[in-house]
Amino acid sequence: MPFKVTVDYKACTGCETCVQVCPSQVYEMQEMDVDGEKKNVSVPVRAQDCIGCMTCVAQCPSQAITVEEE
Ligand code: SF4
Ligand code: SF4
Repeated sequence: MPFKVTVDYKACTGCETCVQVCPSQVYEMQEMDVDGEKKNVSVPVRAQDCIGCMTCVAQCPSQAITVEEE
């Protein structure tokens, strides 16, 4: 069952909680240009490995993550 994993890079504070809690290592921290400002954000580089456990959604302190069934 595929899941669509989206991170709101404007809302992400780079706390790395999602990187630590995801059982499928979906996330990787990357430096990204967000509104002309360089910041470290979490990128769902292995979204195809997501099992839809919703742990990241529940644990993100900034409510920056959306996981939807495709
Ligand atoms: S838990 Fe939320 S705020 Fe923290 S790095 Fe992940 S997406 Fe960003
Ligand atoms: S829903 Fe679970 S498996 Fe999918 S990205 Fe979030 S923590 Fe990882």
